[in-house]
Amino acid sequence: MQAKIISVTNPRQKPRTAFVYADELSQYQLSAEHPLRPIRLHHMHELMKAAGILDAANVDTLVPRTATRTEIESSHDPGYVSIVEAISKGAIAPGMGEFGLGTPDNPVRPGMYEQTALCVGATLIASELVTSGKADVAFAPTGGVHHHAMPAHASGFGIFNDAVIAMNAMVDAGLRVAYIDIDCHHGDGVQLGHYDSDQVLTISIHESGQWLFPGTGFVQEIGTGDGTGYSVNVPLAPYTQDDDWHALFDEVIPPLVRAFKPDVLFTQLGIDTHFQDPLTHLSLTTQGFNLVVQKLGALGAEIGKWVAVGGGGYDLSAVARSWTMALATMAKFELDDQVPLSFTSLEGLTTFDDQPPAPTEAQYLSEIQQHNKSSFDEVRKLIFPKFGI
Ligand SMILES: [Zn+2]
Repeated sequence: MQAKIISVTNPRQKPRTAFVYADELSQYQLSAEHPLRPIRLHHMHELMKAAGILDAANVDTLVPRTATRTEIESSHDPGYVSIVEAISKGAIAPGMGEFGLGTPDNPVRPGMYEQTALCVGATLIASELVTSGKADVAFAPTGGVHHHAMPAHASGFGIFNDAVIAMNAMVDAGLRVAYIDIDCHHGDGVQLGHYDSDQVLTISIHESGQWLFPGTGFVQEIGTGDGTGYSVNVPLAPYTQDDDWHALFDEVIPPLVRAFKPDVLFTQLGIDTHFQDPLTHLSLTTQGFNLVVQKLGALGAEIGKWVAVGGGGYDLSAVARSWTMALATMAKFELDDQVPLSFTSLEGLTTFDDQPPAPTEAQYLSEIQQHNKSSFDEVRKLIFPKFGI
């Protein structure tokens, strides 16, 4: 009898990768001075095109759809949704401040309902492609930035919380979801959206609320009712650099995700952790960020379903390079470190990797490490036993 020939190389194809994007989403400016400049997405898209990722055989680009009112109201109060819709049509809504609208963070302008509904729809398309098995991984970079949005009010640039809406649909379909938020800010809106659920494990690793908006995300916020233990927070000290950030990530996140045994991995990939970000104080490099994406990819491959959205990120160069690197990592596309010469959308970019910032002085490094270790010790004490680890 002839023996079967078994190849020693990995027979698996490259991941079927969906990229959900429409360049019109890079045109919506919240206000003249607003730090969230949607043009960041245009630069990212130009860089992805110049690098050739979007031409790869295993990468499909899909256009978003507009989320329906019913989908938005699955996670938001109808009265709040109506106010956003009315303002979007040009109505003046006295008392909109009660809904967090008309503030410097959340200015109002015509078209805001439609633009946000399209962002939500992009995240929904990404989720549907992954949960239906049509893609192994899907990236909707216009999503995630709404992670502070609350059921009945806007917060921190967030109007409708696309992640909560998408994960509610997954839970309704009987799926358990692990949500990992690596944005520099605590993902408070997403945490609240699933605070009493044991079907969604939310993990947010961020600069501590002691120093940064929204002032929450402490280890003691562990969920309530059935959700007790399914809300995990890892607050870090300002100026934490790549190595120390990764040390905490490695200690907390893969063990918890594996113990939870989710059906889907959902990641928010904010890059306002970057050392040049103007709004925050963590000190990651683009290569440090990409290493996170590689680790998330390893978890995603184990689980078999991975949805990724964008998030904060206010340094244009960091956003363009990091999310291009992220898409390349998802698709297992070989990316040269040199930024292609054909990329002219944003000046001054030469390499994808950063020249790292100067190492932290020893006395501050020890304070940073002490703060971060106490976060880990608390998580290990409060959360790990729930998962038998
Ligand atoms: Zn942020």
